Amino acid sequence: MNDESRLREEMVTLGRSIFDRGLTAGSSGNISARVEDGWLMTPTNVSLGRLDPARLSKLDKDGRFVSGDKPTKEAVLHLAMYEERPQSGAIVHLHSTHSAAVSCMDGLDCDNCLPPLTPYFVMKIGRLPLIPYHRPGDPALGGAIRSHACRHCAVLLANHGPVVSGTTLDNAANAVEELEETAKLFLLLRGVPTRPLNAVQIEELTKTFGLDEGMMSGRSQG
Ligand SMILES: [Zn+2]
Repeated sequence: MNDESRLREEMVTLGRSIFDRGLTAGSSGNISARVEDGWLMTPTNVSLGRLDPARLSKLDKDGRFVSGDKPTKEAVLHLAMYEERPQSGAIVHLHSTHSAAVSCMDGLDCDNCLPPLTPYFVMKIGRLPLIPYHRPGDPALGGAIRSHACRHCAVLLANHGPVVSGTTLDNAANAVEELEETAKLFLLLRGVPTRPLNAVQIEELTKTFGLDEGMMSGRSQG
């Protein structure tokens, strides 16, 4: 099996796992992976639980649709992120409940909208910027993502959900799941006196695991 065939199978397996665990509902959410001559993406209007490896969308290096079913309407999110992150090999975007709930909250810190509650969140996501609301398909969303993606492996789209990149499909999936779990903790702890990690503890993680801002995804597994 060549690299692209293996990636197609991995995308289908990951999509089914995400859907079966309720991490994205209906036909929401999309996955992409870099291949030698472009990208593979999940098609539009298809549940992540029912992907077909042969019908995944293929885009060339300029983002033009080449083969398979028509790509997700959210292809622009993926392409904008890859453009700024040559180190990223895969992207997972979900409408996962807890992250989406946080994305609707008023008064978030737009530079970093989830606190560093656990070392795993710091290692896999780091700082999480909030991208202001854009209507679905608004071409301006690409620019808004590009302005943050060079420094961050993950962004949260307001009133929508997270977009997370990783060096591999596995790393991107693990990071988006860590983000979703942290959003869940954040919501569970609302109104409860909480100790997020302090600057010294974050510095220790950075030194121990060699984290660079925006390069963290995929480095250290917990
Ligand atoms: Zn979406």
